[in-house]
Amino acid sequence: MAKYKLEYIWLDGYEPVANLRGKTQVKEFTKFPTLKDLPLWGFDGSSTRQAEGKSSDCILQPVASYPDPTKENGVLVLCEVLLPNGKPHPSNARATVIDDADTWFGFEQEYFLYKDGRPLGFPKEGYPAPQGAYYCGVGYNGVGDIAREIVDLHLEICLEAGINHEGINAEVAKGQWEFQIFGKGSKKAADEVWMARYLLQRLGEQYGVDVEYHCKPLGKDLDWNGSGMHSNFSTKFMREKGGKAYFEKLMAAFDKYKNEHIAVYGPNNELRLTGLHETQSIDKFSHGVADRGASIRVPHSFVNAGYKGYLEDRRPNSQGDPYKIASRILQTIKTVPQK
Ligand code: ADP
Ligand code: MN
Ligand code: MN
Ligand code: MN
Repeated sequence: MAKYKLEYIWLDGYEPVANLRGKTQVKEFTKFPTLKDLPLWGFDGSSTRQAEGKSSDCILQPVASYPDPTKENGVLVLCEVLLPNGKPHPSNARATVIDDADTWFGFEQEYFLYKDGRPLGFPKEGYPAPQGAYYCGVGYNGVGDIAREIVDLHLEICLEAGINHEGINAEVAKGQWEFQIFGKGSKKAADEVWMARYLLQRLGEQYGVDVEYHCKPLGKDLDWNGSGMHSNFSTKFMREKGGKAYFEKLMAAFDKYKNEHIAVYGPNNELRLTGLHETQSIDKFSHGVADRGASIRVPHSFVNAGYKGYLEDRRPNSQGDPYKIASRILQTIKTVPQK
């Protein structure tokens, strides 16, 4: 028998953006525990805006687990929150995602690293050189000293934990970065985005650096890009059958439900979706081939394959909940007959 450190991780009940929470219990197992070996646990929901003080117990149900590469016998346990009666808690958006092993999502998470209330690398007062050279840049002047160390370490930790991290790049604004996560199965990529966010925030503690997910942390009036979470998606039907007629109907449905999509694509998106900085404005829906100013960008490969493959919804922002985003995209897809 060996002792394992089980770090249970869940989303709290804060609105409009949930926070990640985590706590650890030590348990003995004869070998490295798999998901089905991990017991239910509980927490005080009155401290997380998930319950009243009188009856405050909420249940943590493990839904995915990953080895924690930073610890000996450490396990990261991603959980859904349940009510005492075993039903999903109202804050549990994961439970609303239609289960489909053949739906694939790829999320491009943009974010700023922040230190002392400013993006990492900003001078104490004023601003660094205007954006231009930072995107995919190299050198101290462009990316500073510790940002790359954090970002590279985060990538290592994610890969060792088995998260399907696909890549990183320095973004357009100073102190702004992106990572991409891809997953097959309607909940897989969203699970791993939340896990990757947790690992990034936890890593930042050691550097006195926080992760700022706000979609426009420097405000909308300055010429600094905002942060998005482009959401790439494909169903089996889109990949294998597709076709122009289906695509047109799908886009008509996305247009019809545009407000329902925007409602779950992250708060303050009106600051970011202005029609500038490679965005479409918040009140319009559009799609276009290779068009980075459209709501949905249609990759060249999609058209070349006869309207088959994946599409990129560019509207979700960096603070969006990938569960809510995946859930809404699948609901809209479901309204379109597949013939
Ligand atoms: P860009 O910055 O040009 O939009 P990225 O390479 O950052 O491109 O992101 C493309 C995303 O599309 C990746 O997250 C990738 O995993 C995802 N993707 C690729 N193929 C598919 C697919 N068939 N279904 C869903 N997502 C996909
Ligand atoms: Mn990208
Ligand atoms: Mn980007
Ligand atoms: Mn993109």
